Amino acid sequence: MKPAPFTYHRPASLAEALTLLLRHGPAAKPLAGGQSLGPMLNMRLARPAHLVDLNDLIELDSLRVTEDTLEVGALTRHHRLANAPEVQRSLPLLGAAAASIGHYTIRQRGTIGGSLAHADPAAQLPLIAVTLGATLVISGPDGSREIAAADFLQSIMTVDLRDGELITAVRFPLPVGDLWAYEAFSRRHGDFALVSVALSFSRDAEGKIVALRLGLGGVDTVPLRLPEIEARGQGRLADENTIRDLAIATATAIAPEDSEQVPAVYRRELAETLVVRAFKAAVNREEGA
Ligand SMILES: Cc1cc2nc3c(=O)[nH]c(=O)nc-3n(C[C@H](O)[C@H](O)[C@H](O)COP(=O)(O)OP(=O)(O)OC[C@H]3O[C@@H](n4cnc5c(N)ncnc54)[C@H](O)[C@@H]3O)c2cc1C
Repeated sequence: MKPAPFTYHRPASLAEALTLLLRHGPAAKPLAGGQSLGPMLNMRLARPAHLVDLNDLIELDSLRVTEDTLEVGALTRHHRLANAPEVQRSLPLLGAAAASIGHYTIRQRGTIGGSLAHADPAAQLPLIAVTLGATLVISGPDGSREIAAADFLQSIMTVDLRDGELITAVRFPLPVGDLWAYEAFSRRHGDFALVSVALSFSRDAEGKIVALRLGLGGVDTVPLRLPEIEARGQGRLADENTIRDLAIATATAIAPEDSEQVPAVYRRELAETLVVRAFKAAVNREEGA
């Protein structure tokens, strides 16, 4: 199928893009990498009368690291996140998650702003944003506002984005734990994960877990951070007993949707297995195993 007819706009600046979005209101949609919107247009699940192509807004393709923040411009492609030295240094978990998205061609086009706006509950970047407490910067007719990723993502493909607004940047607080892992399971290479786990922590001088962050994708309508599991792990040794206990507690804490294709019990078992794998990967990376 081909898309329903639309008028194509290619603004040269953020101000021009915002003016177009304001002028056309709900009839307009921003276009970034097109990796989610393209298929939706083709299937006529989206039928905007106006497409506002953001691809000339190169100022939104940016990475900026300060002492306490990694700021990623909304038009930054997954491929850049996966390969940029400043991401590898400051937030390797984000780089690893970006590197695991779909296939090479999708990573070349897809953007962080598009991924967050699209809000697939199994997507990598929303999970990392929620787990690490990222903030979105949004520009619109009334100026600029900031919102926590966890508040922005409301449900499957439902976000706190009003007519005329654009995500312009995502801010990740720094520093985060130096031990990290992204683990996911999908039935086919390149498919969205059935369940995914994002993990970040450090170990103190006695080897005890501090600054633990644990998030899960694919187990609810939005990616989940699990503060109660984080509190349970805090101050304990990252040994076999702790890891097993946290994995079982995680599987008990979630309530995934039950379907014939993917039973809830299967997602729970995946969550348990992936939490174990994530802790082991993080510890092994530190120990150079
Ligand atoms: C075969 C295939 C496999 C994939 N596998 C994965 C996967 O494993 N993991 C994963 O995370 N993703 C996957 N994706 C999706 C991919 O990551 C998309 O690139 C991403 O979800 C959307 O980003 P985009 O830049 O392409 O956005 P677009 O498709 O251009 O836009 C998506 C939505 O976001 C809106 N939008 C875009 N930019 C902004 C902005 N700055 N402000 C406000 N709204 C905006 C658009 O209007 C649209 O509603 C896959 C896609 C395909 C086609």
